[in-house]
Formats: sequence, C-alpha cells, structure tokens
Amino acid sequence: MDQSSRPCQIDPLRMDSLLGPTRGRFTFEVVAECSSTSSLLAERARQGAPAGLLLVADRQTAGRGRRGRSWLSSPESGLTFSVLWRFAGGVSRLAGLSLAVGIAVVRALGSCGVRGVGLKWPNDILLEGDKLGGILVELESEPRVMLAVIGIGLNLQLPPADQESFLHRPAALAQALSPLPDRHQILAQVLIDLAEVLDRFAEGGFSVLRSEWQAHHSWQDRQVRLLDGGRVDREGICLGADEDGALLLRTPAGIERCLSGDLSLRVA
Ligand code: ATP
Repeated sequence: MDQSSRPCQIDPLRMDSLLGPTRGRFTFEVVAECSSTSSLLAERARQGAPAGLLLVADRQTAGRGRRGRSWLSSPESGLTFSVLWRFAGGVSRLAGLSLAVGIAVVRALGSCGVRGVGLKWPNDILLEGDKLGGILVELESEPRVMLAVIGIGLNLQLPPADQESFLHRPAALAQALSPLPDRHQILAQVLIDLAEVLDRFAEGGFSVLRSEWQAHHSWQDRQVRLLDGGRVDREGICLGADEDGALLLRTPAGIERCLSGDLSLRVA
C-alpha cells in the first residue's frame, strides 16, 4: 500500500510492531471510507469475525454517537475505529462497559503524555473540560456469549465543522501535545490499555475499575441537569458512577441511581 498517498491510513504491520506483547490480541481491517466503523464491524461480527478485529476507517461518512447522534471527523482530524470483543455470560455482566473503555483511553493518553484528560458520564472523553472524544458501545447476544462493538472517536485536530454547532466545545490532542505523535503510536497505546482493561472487566466487572473512573471523573460534585430524550428529567449534584456504572445523583429526594438510556448530563 502506498502510504504517501494515504497519509492518515493505519498500517497493520506497523501496528503489530508497536503492540509488543499485546500483538495477537488484535487483527486489523483498514478501509478508506465507510458509513460507520461500528455498523460495518457489526456486520462482520454477524458473519463470524473473531474477537479483537479492529476496523479503522480514514473517513466515516455517517459516524455515529449515541442514539443516532453523529460523530464528525475527517481523515486528518480524527482517529475513529471500532473493535469487536466477546464476553462470556449475559448482558448484565456488561454493565458499565463504556465507562471501563473510557478508563483505557485515559490511561493510554496519559502514557502518550497528555495531561488534563477526564471522563464525563457515560461516554465522553474530555480534555480540560472540552470534548476530546466519544465512546459508543453496542451489544448483541450470541449463544452464551455477548458481543460488543466498541467504537472510539478521538480528535487529533479540531473537527471540520462549525464549532458553534456542537453542544460541548470540541477539543483536540494537538492542543495538548506538540508535536503530535504518529497516529499509530496513539492507537497502539489505546489498544494495549484496552486489552488490559477489558480483561479486568471480564473478570470483575466495572466494580473493580470504579475507583479509577471516579478519580478521572471531570464532573464530580457539580450541579447538573439530567436530560431524558432532551427533556430535563432531574437536577442534582453529580456523584459519579456506582459499581454497575449507573450515574449517582444527589437530589432533594436522596441519592438516586440513573441508568444510561437516552440520558445526557448538562451543567445546571
Ligand atoms: P452528550 O455528550 O451531550 O451527553 P452524547 O453523549 O449523546 O451527548 P455522543 O454520542 O457522545 O453525544 O456524541 C455525539 C455528539 O458529539 C454530537 O451530537 C455532537 O454534538 C458532538 N460531536 C460530534 N462530533 C464531534 C467531534 N469530532 N468532537 C467533539 N464533539 C463532537
């Protein structure tokens, strides 16, 4: 493959050499363009693709966030990929999975030298409070096994859009790292940490990772509004996540536990 004509594309051989002992846990499929890496990977999964298959696209024409919201990126600005993972047991064992993935991203960016990375419930990666990336976990069941398509989008540069149109101000790794490491290095570090975190999660669930998530929780003790499908549902003090990854909110009625559906947090 002529890398010079595709400056943003991921080279699987380079990835293998950077992954060290984690090599072998991941296989790579690189496409120049697709609608959404998660949608394409889910198709591959239904066709029996192995766990650890990572699908990375130069360009997503319809990158997805939660509940049909869109994730915008260009080949230069973003690193967007989806990974297939399988977990023994039923869906209840996967509570808090997207929060666990956030921990892997925080660890990886820390190892790359980025400071100021935090997490916002349930799926945002923040840099100094602005939105650096997002995580989208989609689940399907197979006999005795749950299949997770884990999509991650990270801004290397600010996304190619009118910044005012975003609900949260976007952030980019280039604001925190100069020079910006090669995207292969960033991706390799994320995968190394992801494999470790997913192994821990598979053994012990989110509860064994919760204190680490809390340590990186950007909105701890903030007065927040919880929106359900866009409408204000509750207001309170944000206390982070419980052992199952549910949001804890202190309201006049006491500490309430809120499970992620179409729930979004806003500063009150
Ligand atoms: P919220 O984070 O507001 O609670 P959400 O979690 O539902 O919302 P996500 O699914 O994480 O949102 O991401 C989609 C949203 O992120 C879009 O609606 C858009 O506002 C914003 N967005 C899209 N692309 C980017 C990007 N490259 N960088 C930062 N923000 C983006």
